[in-house]
Amino acid sequence: MQLSKKPFFFLWNERGKLYFCIFQNTTIMKSVTIKDKEFGIFIESKEIERSIEQVSQKINADLKDQNPIFVAILNGAFMFAAELMKRVSIPCEITFVRLASYRGTSSTENVKEVLGLNESIEGRTIVIVEDIVDTGNTMAALLKQFEAMNPKEIRIASLLFKPEALKKDIKLDYVALEIPSDFIVGYGLDYDGYGRNLNDIYKLKS
Ligand code: 5GP
Ligand code: MG
Repeated sequence: MQLSKKPFFFLWNERGKLYFCIFQNTTIMKSVTIKDKEFGIFIESKEIERSIEQVSQKINADLKDQNPIFVAILNGAFMFAAELMKRVSIPCEITFVRLASYRGTSSTENVKEVLGLNESIEGRTIVIVEDIVDTGNTMAALLKQFEAMNPKEIRIASLLFKPEALKKDIKLDYVALEIPSDFIVGYGLDYDGYGRNLNDIYKLKS
């Protein structure tokens, strides 16, 4: 496991030589091994948080008078939901539901039903909070189930989006980061249950 410390403060002398440098407290691992696979650093938390901040600003402006209910999809969206909701400043509710788990490194079409929604969403503006939209199969199944509950409007907020992998006709209202079709872990996303706690996003090494 390699570690890199990120410098955040430099001083240079008049001949351009670096003579002072303070390092950030946080260390970023350049690579991580999870079970049998190696992953390399892909998106650092600073960039993730910057993107989430932009999404929150749009939501605050768009849904100011809508009294929305955010429905976060466990387990993957827990970290995104927390970071997003810290920045959402309009009156709203948040609730969490559970779905099919995702195993291995390819997306499954076998989606279980939404579990654990105790609130009525009839007539409400709902914002689905997801970790990632890959083929869009999961989101399409989710939309079908939520539409049957007669909400006023459904919006989608996803931390990550793989546009090249999308197979369904779905409109994503709020996307923090668009990425290529690689398998990633961290920031809530797992490989076989592990890696969700990583503060940065890592990509599977080929
Ligand atoms: P979709 O149905 O859009 O193909 O996939 C959606 C689900 O697959 C996501 O909610 C997530 O659980 C999982 N998924 C898709 N791509 C990735 C990925 O790169 N890494 C991880 N860990 N999960 C992924
Ligand atoms: Mg998910």
